[in-house]
Amino acid sequence: MNLLIDKYNRRIEYIRISVTDRCDLKCLYCTPKDSDSHSRRRAILRFEEITRIVRCFADMGVSRVRITGGEPLVRKDMVSLINQLSHINGINDLAMTTNATLLSKYAIDLKNAGLKRVNISLDTLKPETFKTVCGGGELKDVLEGIKEAVNAGLTPVNLNTVVMRGLNDNELIDIVHFAIENSANIRFIECMPVRRIVNLSKERFISIKEVKSLVESHFELEPAKSSGGGPASYFTIKPTIRNSQSAIKIGFISPITQHFCESCNRVRLTAEGILRLCLGYKDGIDLRDYIRSGISDESLKEIIIKIIQNKPQGHQFSNDKCIPIEQSMSMIGG
Ligand code: SAM
Repeated sequence: MNLLIDKYNRRIEYIRISVTDRCDLKCLYCTPKDSDSHSRRRAILRFEEITRIVRCFADMGVSRVRITGGEPLVRKDMVSLINQLSHINGINDLAMTTNATLLSKYAIDLKNAGLKRVNISLDTLKPETFKTVCGGGELKDVLEGIKEAVNAGLTPVNLNTVVMRGLNDNELIDIVHFAIENSANIRFIECMPVRRIVNLSKERFISIKEVKSLVESHFELEPAKSSGGGPASYFTIKPTIRNSQSAIKIGFISPITQHFCESCNRVRLTAEGILRLCLGYKDGIDLRDYIRSGISDESLKEIIIKIIQNKPQGHQFSNDKCIPIEQSMSMIGG
C-alpha cells in the first residue's frame, strides 16, 4: 500500500469532506450574511464521485472521514452517502460535523447507515444569543438534535463552541454543565480570521489560555488519558466538593495561539471537489475535473501522492499578522 506521507514526514490519514456550501444558519464567524452565492448545483461532487475519491484515499491508508459543510444535513439523502462510505474497506472512523438543527430527524437513520459519531456546534444556551450568533434558526432544535444524537449512540458527541468575547464568554461554565448533563464532550475553539470577519475575529478574539482559566475558575482539570488524535488538548474534571465525578472531556483548540500544524494529519475536499492541503492556503487541486475526464483510480492515486508533497508546513495566520483564510469556512468545510 502506498501511504500518504508528505515532505515533512506527516502521515495523512484523515480527510474532511464538505458535501455542500449551503447552510441553514449564518454564523457570525463562519458565513457572513453577505457571503458569496453558493456553488451551482451541477458544480458539486455527486455522491458516487465522493465515494470514489474516498475509496482511493482509503487505498492509501486514510482511515478517518469527516462529513461537513456548510450544513451537511441540508443536502438531500445524506443517509445514502453515509451508507456508501461506511462500506469502504479501511474507513474505520466515519464522523459528521453538524449544527444539529435537523439532526433529531436523521440521527437514528444515520447511525443505522454506519455513521459513528457527531461533532455539534453549540455556541450558546440562550435563545436570543443564538439568533445573534447564528443569524436565525431555533436553539431548541439544536438541543433536541444533541439529545437524539446521544440516544442514537452517535457517540462520543463532541460539542464545539467558538468562544467570542462579549457574546458567549459568560456562558462557558453553563455550557460545561450542559455537556455533563448530556454526556457529551465539550471543545472550546479560538475564533479564526476568515475572510470578511477579520474585524470580528480581532474584536471578539479570546485566547484559549484565557478560556481555560475561565473554565478552571470553576472546575479542577487534569490532562485526559487519551488524546483524541486531533488538534484538541483534552482534560477531565477532577471530582471535588463542588463538582462530582463526570466522564466527559473538555477540549481546548488553539489554531491561532498554539497551532498544531506539525502534527497535521488531514486534507480537505471542498463540495466542488477541490482538494485543499491546508486551511490557511487557498491553493488546491481540482479532483472533480480529473474524475470527470475519465481518469483511472490508479492515475488519480498517483496524482494525489504527488500533490501531497506540496502540503505546506503550516498555516500563516496568527492573531497579530492576521492573514485571513481566503474563503469562509462554509465554503472550505470547517
Ligand atoms: N454546519 C456545521 C456546523 O455548524 O457544525 C458544519 C460546518 S462548520 C464550518 C464546522 C465547524 O467550523 C464548526 O464547528 C465551527 O466551530 C467551525 N468554525 C467555523 N468558522 C470558524 C472560525 N472562524 N473559527 C473557528 N472555528 C470555526
